[in-house]
Amino acid sequence: LTYADYIKAHIRTVSDWPQPGVQFRDITPLLQDPKTFRVLVDIFVHRYMDQRVDMVAGLDARGFILGSVVAYELNVGFVPIRKKGKLPFTTIAEQYELEYGSATVEVHADACTPGQRFVVIDDLIATGGTMTAGVKLLRRLGADIVEAGAIVDLPELGGSQVIRDAGIPLFTVCDFA
Ligand code: 5GP
Repeated sequence: LTYADYIKAHIRTVSDWPQPGVQFRDITPLLQDPKTFRVLVDIFVHRYMDQRVDMVAGLDARGFILGSVVAYELNVGFVPIRKKGKLPFTTIAEQYELEYGSATVEVHADACTPGQRFVVIDDLIATGGTMTAGVKLLRRLGADIVEAGAIVDLPELGGSQVIRDAGIPLFTVCDFA
């Protein structure tokens, strides 16, 4: 059993949530079990510990849980990329298209100094819209994106391919086809 298999085995699938037809991949069992939580964090820490990372950014909201612990363990700072309207100081924004309508993510305008090396963390890549928008925000502030990282890829939705085609290096621990 690989670490990736071990992680995948602890992700719970919830059918018809948040709407009929969706198979939601629930990562909370991974966090609840102290052994899987530690293995998960260590996969990311080992991957980035020798990459001269300056900052970890996390995507609202499950990206905060993993991203902040990885940042702490790497001894670097943490930047939240939030849904529209949540950040109090001056922000920059990126809008992206959803199946129905659009969404906007924001980051504080002073969250990055040009040339800082960022890892961007979320729990899951579906269409790739959220991660792509988050990376665009940081690149607008002059960040050097070491890698985008997530626990789960849903390759059939094409998001991981879109992200890589946009020139963003991407790492995911496991996938559900
Ligand atoms: P995307 O922007 O790639 O289409 O969607 C990814 C975003 O939606 C991530 O921030 C993720 O938290 C959330 N998301 C969409 N589907 C799922 C799912 O099945 N499980 C989890 N845990 N998050 C999901």
